[in-house]
Amino acid sequence: MNIEKSYDLNPSTEIQFLKGVGPRRSEIFQKRNVNNAADLLEYFPRDYEFRPSLILTKDLTVDHQVSVAGIIDQMQYNRRSRPPRMDVVLEDPSGRCRLVWFHGQYMRDKLFPGDKIIAWGKVTRYKHSLQIVNPAWKKIQDADELLDEENQVITIYPAGGDLSSNEIARIIRRSLDQMLPGVRERYDQDYRRQRNLPARRQAYEWIHRPQNTDQIKNARRSMAYDELLLMELAIALKKERLQRTQPACPLALTKKIDQHIRRLFPFLFTDDQNKVITEICADAARSQPMNRLLQGDVGSGKTAVALYAALLAVANRKQVAVMAPTEILAEQHFLSFRKYLKHSQVNIALLKGGLTGNKRRELIQQITTGEIDVVIGTQALLQTDVAFKELALVIIDEQHKFGVRQRQTIRSKDVAPHYLVMTATPIPRTLAMTVFGELEVSTITKLPPGRKPVKTSWINPEKLPEAYNSIRKLIDQGQQAYFVYPRVEEADDREPSDESPTDFPPADDLKAAVAEHKKLQTEIFPNFDVGLLHGQMNQQSKQKVMDDFRTGKLDILVATVVIEVGVDVPNATVMVIEHAERFGLAQLHQLRGRIGRGNKQSYCLLFGQAKTDDAGKRLEIMTKTNDGFRIAEEDLSIRGPGQFFGTSQHGLPDLKVADLIKDFQLLCMARRDAFQIAKDDPYLQKESNQTLKRDLLNIFGDSLKFIDVG
Ligand code: ADP
Ligand code: MG
Repeated sequence: MNIEKSYDLNPSTEIQFLKGVGPRRSEIFQKRNVNNAADLLEYFPRDYEFRPSLILTKDLTVDHQVSVAGIIDQMQYNRRSRPPRMDVVLEDPSGRCRLVWFHGQYMRDKLFPGDKIIAWGKVTRYKHSLQIVNPAWKKIQDADELLDEENQVITIYPAGGDLSSNEIARIIRRSLDQMLPGVRERYDQDYRRQRNLPARRQAYEWIHRPQNTDQIKNARRSMAYDELLLMELAIALKKERLQRTQPACPLALTKKIDQHIRRLFPFLFTDDQNKVITEICADAARSQPMNRLLQGDVGSGKTAVALYAALLAVANRKQVAVMAPTEILAEQHFLSFRKYLKHSQVNIALLKGGLTGNKRRELIQQITTGEIDVVIGTQALLQTDVAFKELALVIIDEQHKFGVRQRQTIRSKDVAPHYLVMTATPIPRTLAMTVFGELEVSTITKLPPGRKPVKTSWINPEKLPEAYNSIRKLIDQGQQAYFVYPRVEEADDREPSDESPTDFPPADDLKAAVAEHKKLQTEIFPNFDVGLLHGQMNQQSKQKVMDDFRTGKLDILVATVVIEVGVDVPNATVMVIEHAERFGLAQLHQLRGRIGRGNKQSYCLLFGQAKTDDAGKRLEIMTKTNDGFRIAEEDLSIRGPGQFFGTSQHGLPDLKVADLIKDFQLLCMARRDAFQIAKDDPYLQKESNQTLKRDLLNIFGDSLKFIDVG
């Protein structure tokens, strides 16, 4: 005798012990990381289909979407017809109808005469009879199930590896009622009601067994909220932790200090700069370390703001470290700081990579004794053996390389320094809340006064000679120009970069910087001086070329994307970008940021052919706006969050249901809630937060160990 055991499933029940699974299927499930009942419950449909209503075969009408159910009477594969077709005759109580699968040879081992199925699709006429072509279908076992089939929503699961969506649906459906009781609530009733969230158990039922679109929508929203809440909670707890570690040194701002600092700048700060300065000073005045992201387009005046912050620290008799991603940028910061500080007694130093022996020892000594107030260098340099006397502020210039994740701490003695991270790529709000979620964000949106927005056009490559003529005139008037190419040499791959779009394979007919440099110098602009800059040159030659361009010895600079960071030549007013379709939006925007830095009108000429839709969109957007935020948002929506950052993931968790762009409102809500929870219960010790804590540890595991201690 066979006794059906009836029990609620434990979430940890192994997959092979679920009804209908068995060893073969459990292996397939395990390959997809579905190991137990809980995982299966989390295996969500990727889509839903609405099955048209069930009718009798005698009622088929041409062009209608219908479902029919019955027994397979005959099957025949006609190899010779064109295209080859699998003909199936389905019989129901009212008569028979024909189902056709073109190229349907594979149906041979899926269906057999005698099988009961339900099939749905569009009715078409073929000669004198009606048929359904390539219908969707599923096997049914008995009349009971057909009754169940009144429910017309079909769940479509990610399938593959010999396990069809239908089979998965059947397996989940069989165990669903037993799995649901194992779902634990994360929030109490009031909390859910205020946010219009169904009970979690309900949401799981709806996601796997919905009866209508409302249920799908509600379930999806609830799952998305759950995911976003966990993600934001991880961020919020991390932030709480950052603030509870070592104290920082409060930097007091007095009226006198403020006046003193402002006097050093040859201009008045813009409203945006003032707003951001206020935000920074408020943070810095606390004994908790500041963790602030300062974002603003190239040329928006971030460096000036950063210098203000540095001077605030110096005025408090503390030291500052400024870290740039490259030597060139470090030097650039050094030069611009020095310019502003001409009439002050602040001691600044550039810690160069090439510096060795006594000179280096001496400099490090001066840093240790506190003689030097502001040290500028690359991240690598400042991580090494440099010991500060009293480091109170670290300024990190990320440009757009987003290295915040690996942000190491440079040590000073007892206090944690304040951190100010600058980035020139405007970060869409969505990402500011996720990837940079533990940082406060300050934003400069308006450029300093007197800038003329760069005029950008997208031009057919055939018109290049006309452009040469206009450029010649501008250079005759004393201005300078950039020519940018996607690769260094013809035989090369293009200059490697994380941000290059992926929609073009490498091509053979790409113009390359080295060859074009030669051509421009000898054929097109023989009377001008044309320089060459690319990533394969050594540091010294790069430096020399940049200096020559900066001082005007060179009229034209031919380059690869290496100029996207670090070159600041206000006299350069033209940028030609060839094969512009091959550059990513962020890259194009960064490149364009090299011009329009002075008070003359600048022009960006994009030569390229949009061979894909995305490429067309990118070039189009560039001609429409100079607003880095809009460009970043567009970029994010073209590429999606995963690719927005290039190859690396930057700690974004896998979101199964939530979509950072579409679910923005939900993200805001989850973020608010998460930060409230973290504030109330920073170590998640309260009884009511235990489910949340367990789920959080499950997903983020080790990286959250700290919530267990303390
Ligand atoms: P970013 O670091 O954001 O690229 P910078 O601080 O280097 O911007 O400023 C770009 C240019 O604008 C510099 O030449 C700087 O002197 C100038 N600048 C910055 N702030 C102002 C301002 N408030 N008014 C006028 N010019 C400014
Ligand atoms: Mg700058």
